[in-house]
Amino acid sequence: MSSSAFGMHQRQPTIVRAERMAAELEVPVVIVGAGACGLVAAIALRDAGIDCVVLERDAEPSGSSALSSGFIPAAGTAAQRAAGIDDSVALFESDIASKARGTAARRLVHAYAKAAGPALDQLQSAHGIVFEVLDGFLYPGHSVRRMHAVRERTGSALMAQLERAAINIGATLLTEALVRELWLNANDQVLGLGYERPDGSMEHVACSYILLACNGFGGNPKMVEQLLPEMRDAIFAGHAGNDGSAISWGQQLGARLADLGGYQGHGSWAVPQGALVSWALMMDGGVQINSLGERFHDESHGYSEASVQVLAQPGGIAWNVFDQTTLTLARSFPDFRDAENAGALKSCPDLDALAAMLGCESAKLGKTLAAVAPEVEDVHGRKFLRTLQAPYFAVKVTGALFHTQGGLDIDENCRVMRQDGSVFSSLLAAGGAARGVSGNAVWGYLSGNGLLSAVAGGTIAAATIITDIQESK
Ligand SMILES: Cc1cc2nc3c(=O)[nH]c(=O)nc-3n(C[C@H](O)[C@H](O)[C@H](O)COP(=O)(O)OP(=O)(O)OC[C@H]3O[C@@H](n4cnc5c(N)ncnc54)[C@H](O)[C@@H]3O)c2cc1C
Repeated sequence: MSSSAFGMHQRQPTIVRAERMAAELEVPVVIVGAGACGLVAAIALRDAGIDCVVLERDAEPSGSSALSSGFIPAAGTAAQRAAGIDDSVALFESDIASKARGTAARRLVHAYAKAAGPALDQLQSAHGIVFEVLDGFLYPGHSVRRMHAVRERTGSALMAQLERAAINIGATLLTEALVRELWLNANDQVLGLGYERPDGSMEHVACSYILLACNGFGGNPKMVEQLLPEMRDAIFAGHAGNDGSAISWGQQLGARLADLGGYQGHGSWAVPQGALVSWALMMDGGVQINSLGERFHDESHGYSEASVQVLAQPGGIAWNVFDQTTLTLARSFPDFRDAENAGALKSCPDLDALAAMLGCESAKLGKTLAAVAPEVEDVHGRKFLRTLQAPYFAVKVTGALFHTQGGLDIDENCRVMRQDGSVFSSLLAAGGAARGVSGNAVWGYLSGNGLLSAVAGGTIAAATIITDIQESK
């Protein structure tokens, strides 16, 4: 799922130790990866008048960011105020921490919750990227409506606007540049890096700071098998460039890694179409039913942990079942409309038709659906606000791996940390390349933690470099 020209020639991620390096180009800051994290950081650096080059392996920047729904959680934004939503950094922080049951790195939870709102406001006021707050339902674990999106409600539209803003303000974006070598001296000072071109040749750029914004290891099957065995056979819905390079560099440098068991799964990946079906359907009253006609979990806990639940069902699949009310909401999401256009949506006039499609007994399915009611105590602990009414609609789904949340451990300024807790002063990491705010397990992922780490982390990393450069003048 990427427009990368790299194949046979690809070198391994390497650390080169040297006292100096010869380079064709010199620039204060190099950012590895032009996803949301890299582009947000580049925009912030250029806002402060600092030159930077963004190196991107693909011919067109995409990353997982362009494949995503593009929903970014943030508190206290202009968009929230305009919509009359009362939110605060403290409430946002508490929601993130609660979802991870207190296991997420507190310094990052605080730093990201604080940085996200001003970051979106700055992108809006200085670069014309207008954010709206999603309406109509609450994502699991969020106390108030704080999921922001550009008008088109897609990750690709978000990325197109970020790329345009970065170019307009003078960031240099170098594509088809697969970074393979990080150069540091004996004192761990960054000297620059080497990147591979599609013809196999290497080029070098000297710099004073490197920001690793190249995401995690979801696209590296060996690492997934080793670190996330329960997702070994799951579909990976993210970007092929998530190859674990940052972790490999970190290991060679003696950097600390953290939360490698944390990830975003998704329990609603339409098969065989291969498309995201919004979890809003579940939050609006929809349920997941397996081919035996049974519900098997509390869908309101979240889509990430639902991935494991769905994969544990017969054939690793389930059906999202919902009614006309929810279908109307679902059709407001571009992702859902794409899935529907690809043939994922099935419509059943009554219970018998639904049972025939699921391949289960009508009586058993009838019992399952009858228990979806406000007055019935649910065995899985879910509280229903309404019953489901025929006609029924259904989408066949499986559990997928979306992105990993573990990576290089970083301090609250996004500097990469050594094993002993000290920091590499000129090497930074953010977004999926760094440890996230979801703890060490699938259930710790609060909706939006991925782009939160990318947008807030990219902003913080840029601010760290800006302060350093300004103080050294
Ligand atoms: C289907 C789907 C839906 C999602 N929806 C949401 C959502 O709505 N909200 C949310 O918060 N999260 C969502 N996520 C997760 C989110 O997409 C990621 O957490 C986020 O995009 C990570 O941003 P990033 O900038 O760190 O990485 P990326 O966007 O993946 O960017 C990394 C970039 O680095 C490049 N790169 C990698 N290695 C190198 C190298 N060695 N040299 C040069 N370039 C390199 C890659 O090509 C890529 O362009 C979703 C994920 C998926 C798969």
